[in-house]
Amino acid sequence: MDKIVLRGSVFDGSDYVEDGAVVVDPSTDLVDACGRMGEVDLPANAQTIGGEGVSVIPGLMDAHMHFFASKTHNLLEWVSVPETLAALRSVRDLKALLRAGFTTVRELGSKCGTYLSQAVDEGVIDGPTIISSSKSLAQTGGDDDPLTLPLEVSKELSYSYYCDGPWECRRAVRMVVRDGGRVVKVYASSSFAQGGRVRRQFTVEELKAIVDEAHAAGLRVAAHAYGEEAITNAVEAGVDSIEHGIGLTEEAAFKMKSKGIFYVPTLSAYVGSENAGSPERRALVQRHLKQDVEVALNAGLKIVCGSDFVGSERDPHGENYREIVYLSEVIGNRLALVAATTNAAECIGVDSGRIKRGAPADLVLVKGSPLQDIMAISPQRILHVMKSGRIVF
Ligand SMILES: [Zn+2]
Repeated sequence: MDKIVLRGSVFDGSDYVEDGAVVVDPSTDLVDACGRMGEVDLPANAQTIGGEGVSVIPGLMDAHMHFFASKTHNLLEWVSVPETLAALRSVRDLKALLRAGFTTVRELGSKCGTYLSQAVDEGVIDGPTIISSSKSLAQTGGDDDPLTLPLEVSKELSYSYYCDGPWECRRAVRMVVRDGGRVVKVYASSSFAQGGRVRRQFTVEELKAIVDEAHAAGLRVAAHAYGEEAITNAVEAGVDSIEHGIGLTEEAAFKMKSKGIFYVPTLSAYVGSENAGSPERRALVQRHLKQDVEVALNAGLKIVCGSDFVGSERDPHGENYREIVYLSEVIGNRLALVAATTNAAECIGVDSGRIKRGAPADLVLVKGSPLQDIMAISPQRILHVMKSGRIVF
């Protein structure tokens, strides 16, 4: 099979080369060579795509999203969309993600994520590689428990396993493993449901049980954490990433740094609602969209792109690049791209995310340079998407 050469400026997930080339070997699905023109051996008879005015970047990653496939952004709809319908709508969402240059996603809580992941791996449907948590772990009466429903109905419909006490928490992790989950998602706090006040959920003892059981099974733990108490508890328990991380203090950030914990601020979940809700909520959100991320940056944390999109009409999959744009407004274009490639890959635990010899050939060709103009990663500017050495768009 002929090799494929992608020509243009190359951002390899860290550094930028103005006039470069990436050689892909479709027989191995891997990158064969990458570098400056003149320094890369270009094979004869190769198919060449790209050229002047385009850039080659690693396939993008969204490290925090959901396959809720709801029309509205509403907890009751999230738990009550029939699973078959959610799966069918998600097939549409997977196509949109791939078309938008997302070649890997980490799905943190849904009822169909592990099955979608399996269908993609089997080649039954097209889509990004999916690292799914299966259902999330939450305490009874927690933030994602619709309190208007009888508990047994809520448990039956929820995208979370409700668990209380260390042994139920361990059992819930074992359920995730049984489901084929490849990461564990835990709600270490509420969100803004209780009048804008943020409360920790689970005790440190429960969180430690979850982390111990997940790590024993070889899975990482992603903790939804709002507020200093929840972040501190999750960090003490030894989770691998803090999701949302609203109200990040310098002290908590330094603890995260010392333990190598990733920070996934999910700015997209809050942009547009800066002025909604109680004064407490407004203050926390406005701080989060800028200062929290700066605290993370100054502490040297690895910041990761995660949109928290659920696939509703408000945040349709395929528009996930918006998170990279919002990040770029605080940390600049290069680091925002690193957040969606190198850092996301490290956080998720996959080999892609960098363009280098021997890496999976998940690549995107865009018009223009995203380092100069971040909108170059918007779907309208994407020329080609390659997944595992195959041009899928
Ligand atoms: Zn989420």
